[in-house]
Amino acid sequence: MTHAAGPQPRRASVAVDVGGVLVGGGAPVVVQSMTNTDTADVDATVAQVAALARSGSEIVRITVDRDESAAAVPRIRERLERLGLEVPLVGDFHYIGHKLLADHPACAEALAKYRINPGNVGFKDKKDRQFIAIIETAIRYDKPVRIGVNWGSLDQALLTRLMDDNQAKGSPLAAREVTREAIIQSALLSAELAEQTGLGRDRIILSAKVSQVQDLIAVYLELARRSDHALHLGLTEAGMGSKGIVASSAALSIILQEGVGDTIRISLTPEPGGDRTKEVIVAQELLQVIGFRQFVPVVAACPGCGRTTSTVFQELARTIEDDLRRNMPVWRDKYPGVEGLQVAVMGCIVNGPGESKHADIGISLPGTGESPAAPVFVDGRKVATLRGTNIAADFQDMVADYIEQ
Ligand code: SF4
Repeated sequence: MTHAAGPQPRRASVAVDVGGVLVGGGAPVVVQSMTNTDTADVDATVAQVAALARSGSEIVRITVDRDESAAAVPRIRERLERLGLEVPLVGDFHYIGHKLLADHPACAEALAKYRINPGNVGFKDKKDRQFIAIIETAIRYDKPVRIGVNWGSLDQALLTRLMDDNQAKGSPLAAREVTREAIIQSALLSAELAEQTGLGRDRIILSAKVSQVQDLIAVYLELARRSDHALHLGLTEAGMGSKGIVASSAALSIILQEGVGDTIRISLTPEPGGDRTKEVIVAQELLQVIGFRQFVPVVAACPGCGRTTSTVFQELARTIEDDLRRNMPVWRDKYPGVEGLQVAVMGCIVNGPGESKHADIGISLPGTGESPAAPVFVDGRKVATLRGTNIAADFQDMVADYIEQ
């Protein structure tokens, strides 16, 4: 068995312009996120969209679930523009999207994309009619849509039909495989209907989210094989804390490695009072560690061990990383290429000097029993030895000077 030395070539997908951000067609994989505020609460939603955009979310989705939230959308758009934030807003519609878009033309205009869930766009004979109504609105306002299938709200009529067909053939497929097929078909049949209604392929993004890693990988790779639509990747209901991060990263990195996926969202259940921007940071870090995009300089830090009794180096690594992330919006414009910087913060002489020499700038802090001196390496050469109680602040200054030079 041979192993590819790197990611597979990116799958050719049709590019979709989402409010000025290109998704698919070979464009860099886009990071997006979603608010959890009540959209009718303009202040709270503007604040959260602004925080998500400033942390690096290139597209932000907001819930549009009733008249009050639809009426708030143009006000949110206007307030963001006054803050100088152009981030495209996507409206997340369920059940009554057709009605909200028809009744609130300013909302239809202010949004950069509409998300439609074919599993709950309407029931029985109303389903296609209401789906088509949203597509016609998208055509009228020249907006793209995401046809977002979710197995928690899968089209039950389609699933039942595929289950019956499978049974009639003697059940060659397990129930799980039939469900995967229903998810894929729901996305593809809906895209077909949207195109028959007159929406261009360059106006359609597909997603097919499930909550199990192996199912997600299988569904997306098959969906990619059967279509050339731009694909939005995400593991739904990924969960809280490290479980959500690990599950999303495991699934998405395998799919991306296969060359599939044009935009990602990491769905994390926030801790009570937790920071929503975490999902953006995790998405950026995922794309960065697999070498797809560069957002902030990499800080290499050792895990620490019995050779270090203090936490100075861990605190320093955290401070440097926070500093870099905070300054990045300004530095990115001022110092092109700064995202590619590599910084090392190491805890003792064992791997410290070696790792620091490989970085653009690195420091090897003294471990237990070592003399209290911290050599600093720049571009592979030792340039200084820091001593005393100000080592952390001095190194921070040296990193800032390095970037400026
Ligand atoms: Fe431990 Fe030193 Fe290795 Fe850090 S560099 S993990 S302190 S041996």
